[in-house]
Amino acid sequence: MNVTMDAPAIHAATLDTAVPLVQTVGIIGAGQMGTGIAHVCALAGLNVHLSDVKSDALAKAMDAMGRNMDRQVNRGTISAEDKLLGLSHVETSTDFAAFDDCDLVIEAATEKEEVKHAIFRALTPHLKPSCLIASNTSSISITRLGAATDRPEKFIGMHFMNPVPVMKLVEVIRGIATDEPTFQAVQALAVRLAKITAVSEDFPAFIVNRILVPMINEAVYALYEGVGSVAAIDTSMKLGANHPMGPLELADFIGLDTCLSIMQVLYEGLSDSKYRPCPLLVKYVEAGWLGRKTNRGFYDYTQTPPRPTR
Ligand code: NAD
Repeated sequence: MNVTMDAPAIHAATLDTAVPLVQTVGIIGAGQMGTGIAHVCALAGLNVHLSDVKSDALAKAMDAMGRNMDRQVNRGTISAEDKLLGLSHVETSTDFAAFDDCDLVIEAATEKEEVKHAIFRALTPHLKPSCLIASNTSSISITRLGAATDRPEKFIGMHFMNPVPVMKLVEVIRGIATDEPTFQAVQALAVRLAKITAVSEDFPAFIVNRILVPMINEAVYALYEGVGSVAAIDTSMKLGANHPMGPLELADFIGLDTCLSIMQVLYEGLSDSKYRPCPLLVKYVEAGWLGRKTNRGFYDYTQTPPRPTR
């Protein structure tokens, strides 16, 4: 793993004229991740086109961005003018017609490979030839996603962490065809967004989720087998392992559908039974209990404080 913390190396990269400069960014998917990515890009002075199939998701995203920026204003980390200027940089749409001036598109739609392929098929005819494409996928092969586009050499993984405005890390994942200017361009962008990058090879779920999500799946197994209740499992890991959130609370935060998709990618991609998704996780997703975003997962978020559901 190569953790990039040395600013001089990054500055050298940005001076290289072959490295495309990113000033206008398209973001696809206005869920929790797309909203966060739009937030940090807008505050960094980039022009942002935010797109989603659902117009209500776009309205919710603008609302959430405003509220999250208000929190930063109250903490004194940005000014009220920064907030207004940032929000004025964001345009929303339910199609890709406005994406023709993008230097980079970051795809942050639902974690399903067929959804992402369909998006790239619809997207690429709208892009200028030099436009780079990054996927924020948590687990899917960057090589395979890139190969299904018209520009595999300009395709890369840029995996932000949730919540994006708070979390420092961006995993950068090169597909087998990704060229060096594309890699340098997203490294330089990450620096502009005040993020620190870690480079991961293109293996299922990369580094963070290869380690984190099987731990969450194991916590769901502990619940399924009756080793402990939701509260006992989360308290154990918070106070016993010093984790800031318990694994079930974290699963609800990530989204149980996303956790399940990542386990399926690990299970199929590595052909190892140790990655089999817990049947209880499958059942929660089948019920539509996806965690915070649906107000119910391992906790019921209509109660204050949230009440464990088992
Ligand atoms: P989410 O469910 O909150 O949002 C997904 C959004 O994509 C929804 O608004 C949905 O309407 C939209 N969408 C679906 N199909 C679309 C299409 N064809 N065109 C445009 N928009 C479409 O999901 P999320 O948590 O924001 O995750 C998005 C991506 O980011 C996934 O690939 C996920 O693996 C990844 N990711 C998630 C986390 C996390 O903690 N949740 C962290 C890092 C990366």
